Amino acid sequence: MIYDKNNIFAKILRKEIPYKKIFENEHVLSFYDINAQKKIHALVIPKGEYIDLDDFNQKASDEEIVALSKAITEVSKILDISTDTGKGYRALTNLGEHGGQEVPHLHFHLFGGEKIGKMVE
Ligand code: AMP
Repeated sequence: MIYDKNNIFAKILRKEIPYKKIFENEHVLSFYDINAQKKIHALVIPKGEYIDLDDFNQKASDEEIVALSKAITEVSKILDISTDTGKGYRALTNLGEHGGQEVPHLHFHLFGGEKIGKMVE
């Protein structure tokens, strides 16, 4: 599969459409999901062009992989949902059609601020 440069997160990365930023560094951007499914619903994405986690793990540099993983924890601390607070959250990523992925740019969802509930419906 070829990366679609016109997907909505690619447009956000090019600053062509607005978003509510939470965190940014050289490799990662985090912003609020436009359609929050829980009290807190953030997205964490790599800046590189990766379709999903499999694509990322096969093509990204170790530096990018470490940066994305660490950014998840960093964002959880910024949002005050990290395990440090005793609360915790859910981080998940959907892959492909069966995974229910809608936007073909790798993203982790961070859900928190309340009990997240059942893992799979
Ligand atoms: P997924 O189904 O895992 O691909 O999730 C895609 C997510 O992107 C959904 O939760 C959408 O609400 C979210 N989304 C779509 N467009 C935007 C946008 N412009 N800004 C922020 N989040 C968005």
